[in-house]
Amino acid sequence: MGAVWVYAELGPDGPLPSALELLTKARALSDEVAAVALGPGAGAAAETLGEYGAGTVYAGEDPAFAEVVGQAAAHALAGLVVEHHPSLILFPSSQEGRDVAGRLQAALGSTLLSNATDVVALDRAVTQIFGDTQIVEVALEGPEPRLVLMRPKVVAAEPSGGRAAVRPVELALPADLPLARRVERHAEAASGPKLEEARVVVSGGRGMQDPSNLALLDRLAKAIGNAAVGATRAIVDAGWVPYHYQVGQTGKTVKPDVYLAFGISGATQHVVGMKGSKRIVAVNKDPDAPIFSLADLGVVGDALAILPKLIEEVERRKSAG
Ligand SMILES: Cc1cc2nc3c(=O)[nH]c(=O)nc-3n(C[C@H](O)[C@H](O)[C@H](O)COP(=O)(O)OP(=O)(O)OC[C@H]3O[C@@H](n4cnc5c(N)ncnc54)[C@H](O)[C@@H]3O)c2cc1C
Repeated sequence: MGAVWVYAELGPDGPLPSALELLTKARALSDEVAAVALGPGAGAAAETLGEYGAGTVYAGEDPAFAEVVGQAAAHALAGLVVEHHPSLILFPSSQEGRDVAGRLQAALGSTLLSNATDVVALDRAVTQIFGDTQIVEVALEGPEPRLVLMRPKVVAAEPSGGRAAVRPVELALPADLPLARRVERHAEAASGPKLEEARVVVSGGRGMQDPSNLALLDRLAKAIGNAAVGATRAIVDAGWVPYHYQVGQTGKTVKPDVYLAFGISGATQHVVGMKGSKRIVAVNKDPDAPIFSLADLGVVGDALAILPKLIEEVERRKSAG
């Protein structure tokens, strides 16, 4: 059985949740699982990566991994592949994952599948096509390693209690390689939980009518507590909120306990990002809005009239203990 590797993306606090999800999947596919962690903190991440199933962690601490966009990681990864011949490499469907996987594919000529929702064998994966209306199992052909970009949260991360052997990765970039370097970093001012991690998501669409009305969503999220605000692409494209609010096919996938949709029609491209929510509540003034076909609770009405009353009621119940 061939080795399965995971491209483990790192954040300031260690491996991102996607790395742990992908390792859990990798364990089901092979007894030989390794993680590739590139960037400051890679060595320190090995303990957690081992706990989730990496037998080996290829760890590169060179600051260039953080400074050079995509190329440094893809270059180091290509070197590791030539040396160790893994059969399959799983990547997260993040900006970094897509960037590195695409560059590696170009370097190796391997097969690359994006948007996978499952990998069932070293050469078979599941994805969704036609705006996610059809689920298909596809054969991964061509030379190894096969490269697969997996959607977030399609696997629940579970520790295996293992320990990883750490193998340092040196970086020697060719002098003539034109490099794109990060010149600045901006950290978003974060308040409240992350959209992908919140237990409750309060989302708004074009039916919110005007960007100034989105303050109602913030107020409801704050009143509920541990809730994040999301949005449809329609209002992201209109410039009402930044892209990181977007839920859906080209945005984030969320699976909260409760998803509240205000003034959202329920287009397929939005629904694929939130249909895994445990409970869906929709408020829309059109009784035929598609969102009602998947809502556990549907309210036909004006979101702008209902939201202030809902906020008042949640605040009243909270203060009553
Ligand atoms: C390739 C591709 C990728 C895409 N990716 C995404 C994605 O990731 N995420 C995403 O969201 N979309 C995505 N879209 C866009 C998607 O197709 C829809 O256009 C979008 O989701 C619609 O957003 P909306 O529901 O806010 O707007 P609309 O479809 O215009 O719906 C607005 C809704 O508000 C209701 N409404 C109006 N006024 C009120 C009121 N006062 N109170 C209550 N309800 C009211 C209306 O009845 C209507 O149902 C993508 C499209 C394409 C082609």
